[in-house]
Amino acid sequence: MKCPKCQSQDFNPFKHEGVEFDFCSDCHGIWCDRGELASYVETIKDTPEKFHLTSEGTLTEMECPKCEKNSLYEIPYLKAQSLLIDKCSECFGIWLDSKELGRIQQLAVNIDAKGKLERTISDMQNKGFNISILKK
Ligand SMILES: [Zn+2]
Ligand SMILES: [Zn+2]
Repeated sequence: MKCPKCQSQDFNPFKHEGVEFDFCSDCHGIWCDRGELASYVETIKDTPEKFHLTSEGTLTEMECPKCEKNSLYEIPYLKAQSLLIDKCSECFGIWLDSKELGRIQQLAVNIDAKGKLERTISDMQNKGFNISILKK
């Protein structure tokens, strides 16, 4: 695989605590396969807001490192924020420039705090825990 941004061949998988993404040693960008970004920043979806990739996004000149010949679309991570990310319309993988993952991490804390709590509570209920104390 080669880096979609700088074409470097030094683009290799990086594993940490069960998350694996592809990291470019030259431009320090990161490729996340579908679902990986969400699992890394603990959100429900990779991109939290509804956004139509091919009609609303901007086609870039970067090619998806997984689906050759398919270009990535530039879309906002959150509409109210200036942070733009690049997403593939076929495999739904996401390209992040260096430092973008850090910004997403900061934003994700706020957008999904409620979702995380809800998921935790329903997981506890499924496992038969008495959670009445949480409803006081
Ligand atoms: Zn690169
Ligand atoms: Zn792709």
